[in-house]
Amino acid sequence: MAQNDSASASAPIAQTMTSNLAALRSLEGVEFPRSDRPHILTVSNQKGGVGKTTTAVNLAVALALGGLEVLVVDIDPQGNASTALAVSHEPGVPSTYDVLTGELRFDDVIVPCPGVPGVRVSPATIDLAGAEVELVDIFGREKLLSRALKSYLEEVGGIDVVLIDCPPSLGLLTLNAFVAADQVLIPVQTEYYALEGLSLLWRTVDRVRERLNPDLRISHLLLTMVDGRTNLSAEVANEVREHFHDLVMETEIPRSVRISEAPSYGMSVVAYEPRGTGAVAYRRAAYELSERLVRADS
Ligand code: ADP
Ligand code: MG
Repeated sequence: MAQNDSASASAPIAQTMTSNLAALRSLEGVEFPRSDRPHILTVSNQKGGVGKTTTAVNLAVALALGGLEVLVVDIDPQGNASTALAVSHEPGVPSTYDVLTGELRFDDVIVPCPGVPGVRVSPATIDLAGAEVELVDIFGREKLLSRALKSYLEEVGGIDVVLIDCPPSLGLLTLNAFVAADQVLIPVQTEYYALEGLSLLWRTVDRVRERLNPDLRISHLLLTMVDGRTNLSAEVANEVREHFHDLVMETEIPRSVRISEAPSYGMSVVAYEPRGTGAVAYRRAAYELSERLVRADS
């Protein structure tokens, strides 16, 4: 009896492992589709803790595993993406801050992500915390990132996707990201207040499109921290899908302890636990994203 109980309790785990392996096998060695131009995506949501950084980091690594060349621009003073991608970002390290102030060019600050071929990073230092105030008097202050990024992309060539990891605010740093990007990817945490704040984000993007960047589109919503055991999570996911239809990516990112552990090892979950549910979800999301990007071009 006891044996049966434990066997039935472990059945879902076995099923999950089997389906993870099947999903991984279907992605292993697959070359992701690429466009003939770089796509610049900003991962934004003025709410903190919704999975922006986790999404930027893991999509970057998973896209690179699919053969794409990826640049992560960390523009959050907290530098969490820099930490997770194991690039140094202590004060004094050449960083996105120096690019915004015009002291350095992206070429001077971008470093390869250790151990992850295909991913390079513009680190964020705490100096960025002062940038909102320091840059306020600069003419064209909302275009600083855009100008620097465009010239870098033209100079180096070959980059497929740029992911900008934003701070949890709609201040000057996020505004710079909106002006530099052509698409916004919004992680939506499946919790009670998920939709709250999205209308403000939408209005902000509309205003930026009208005044500063006609190319900007909200193109992808990614449901994060989906908890299969709670009705609330499923209800919120349904509500978001009913509201936003095709803007919502099919792949959902589950809540997973491994996803939250990985950054403390300076790793993406894709590298930390490659066969786990979180890694597989981000690998699938990255493949889906690459398809959506190419489809948007045609
Ligand atoms: P943001 O950049 O929007 O502030 P983060 O990506 O830093 O959000 O995520 C906030 C916290 O939640 C972090 O501690 C992160 O490790 C954790 N987290 C993110 N995604 C997941 C997930 N799918 N499952 C479990 N924890 C997650
Ligand atoms: Mg973050």
